[in-house]
Amino acid sequence: MTMIASNLQQVQARMARACQAYGRSVKDVALLAVSKTFDAQTVRAAWEAGQYAFGENYIQEAIEKMQALADVPIEWHCIGPIQSNKSRLVAEHFDWVHTVDRLRIAERLSNQRPVGRGELQVCIQVNIDGGANKSGVTVGELPALAEAVARLPGLCLRGLMAIPEPSPDFDAARAVHERMKATFDDLRQGGLMLDTLSLGMSADLEPAIAAGSTMVRVGSAIFGARTAQPAGA
Ligand SMILES: *Cc1c(COP(=O)(O)O)cnc(C)c1O
Repeated sequence: MTMIASNLQQVQARMARACQAYGRSVKDVALLAVSKTFDAQTVRAAWEAGQYAFGENYIQEAIEKMQALADVPIEWHCIGPIQSNKSRLVAEHFDWVHTVDRLRIAERLSNQRPVGRGELQVCIQVNIDGGANKSGVTVGELPALAEAVARLPGLCLRGLMAIPEPSPDFDAARAVHERMKATFDDLRQGGLMLDTLSLGMSADLEPAIAAGSTMVRVGSAIFGARTAQPAGA
């Protein structure tokens, strides 16, 4: 078995243990493999080990990998910040975007989504803890943005995403993740049909699953430590 296949198995085992411990069903938590900075061959190894969905942060780097992997039906998720001048590439090439944080970008993505590719699946990024990672809307701004995004014809609003500040303390991490879950539940109670809470990474997938994550985004635990940021990131 390759190193990546074995790492994938270990991550799936961690997810299964967390589901068991916190009363979640394993089928309700998807694994997004975050492959930024790793090459197409490495992504292919993960695909061959059974991984279907991949997350990328840097648009140009991602598109090169998509071209090298055009023979396999990978589901590609954009999880990096989107500049206006990159929105067309995102709309044309990705299946999902987790990082919508303003209406203007959502409108561009909707307008630029090619007819025939189906709706772009989107999550709105929420800055849940006011952390140094300043991307994302505040909880206060969220309902109006969500209502507006849900009406855009080229997009299908699926849920919310957050990147909480790392915390070594499980209970503290879980409390932040639970604030996200409560925010998600509030929106659903407001009538939006959402099914995706994109929450948890290599270091915090357990508290995220405990709180109700439906999609963990895991990079280093699958692919190893990232050494380089690609040029043009
Ligand atoms: C890089 C990244 C991840 C994966 O982080 P790891 O700690 O390597 O698991 C998840 N989500 C986002 C938005 C990222 O940028």
